[in-house]
Amino acid sequence: MYAQRRRDAEAQGTTNRCGAPNQGNMKIALPNKGRLAEGARELLELAGLEFDMRDRALQASLGDDFTAIFVNARDIPEFVADGAAQLGITGGDIVAESGRNVQTLLDLGFGRCRLAVAAREDSAIRSLEDIGEGARVATVFPNLTQRFFRALGREVTLVPISGAAEIAPHLGVADVIVDLVSTGSTLKVNGLQEVATVLESTALLIGSVDLLDTAGGARRARELTAALESVLRAQDKRYLMANVPKRVLEEIKRILPGINGPTIIDVMDGGEFVAAHAVVEQRDIYRTIAELKQVGAQGILVTRIERLMP
Ligand code: AMP
Repeated sequence: MYAQRRRDAEAQGTTNRCGAPNQGNMKIALPNKGRLAEGARELLELAGLEFDMRDRALQASLGDDFTAIFVNARDIPEFVADGAAQLGITGGDIVAESGRNVQTLLDLGFGRCRLAVAAREDSAIRSLEDIGEGARVATVFPNLTQRFFRALGREVTLVPISGAAEIAPHLGVADVIVDLVSTGSTLKVNGLQEVATVLESTALLIGSVDLLDTAGGARRARELTAALESVLRAQDKRYLMANVPKRVLEEIKRILPGINGPTIIDVMDGGEFVAAHAVVEQRDIYRTIAELKQVGAQGILVTRIERLMP
């Protein structure tokens, strides 16, 4: 009985895992399924937030400071603007389409795609100039589409749909579509070609506009943003360790500049070698290893970095 009550209070975010009252547990709205759901969860876990789902699939506690609520990605700007959640992770396209007043705290980099105008490959439409006044545009992004064409001085006829826009030009119900593209293979399979880009999109961490008004809210938002940033910063970096001959240390400084120069540690081998450690850009690893070998490095190790604070 007591355990159930404690679980309920915890799930509602009124107590932490130790049963102590939270000082206003902050709600973060996360996509419950689809392309962004996994990326959001993975990123939060890498930042050190553990999901405690218990038996409630719609809500989970995330450490002592946050409660995650799982909702449709499209509803997240609405929930954050209305105060149902103070934070949210969703696509930049969805935030822009919603037009809701929220603040973007951090670009999370995953879920990269673009909202594009596309036409049938066999149509005469090759560029935006070929899309005339009154052209029929099928899209699940009516606001962004209308704004885009109005900025070009054209009034188009929106054909609102709820998904699978790519079929609309073939059914004769639209001249072009405005839809999300990442690799372009879906368009190709459907005999469509891209004509223009409306918007580039990635997943964003958003917050309510009054989030920073309270000291507690500002602190937690800042801490979460810093933790997520540290994960993003580490993603394309690796930690490299190698035993290098002492006599080539000047060369090593050039090969392994690291963040503030390499860390050099004594090796108990009688003095010929030292260990050099440094953070290296992932894209430079191959070349760096080749250069280290050339100057006589041994025992080269490369590991992932979970988080990197400046
Ligand atoms: P879902 O419909 O739940 O899979 O999520 C759609 C969201 O995922 C979009 O609004 C974008 O923010 C993001 N996304 C990333 N790449 C793509 C893509 N190739 N097609 C559709 N959505 C994408």
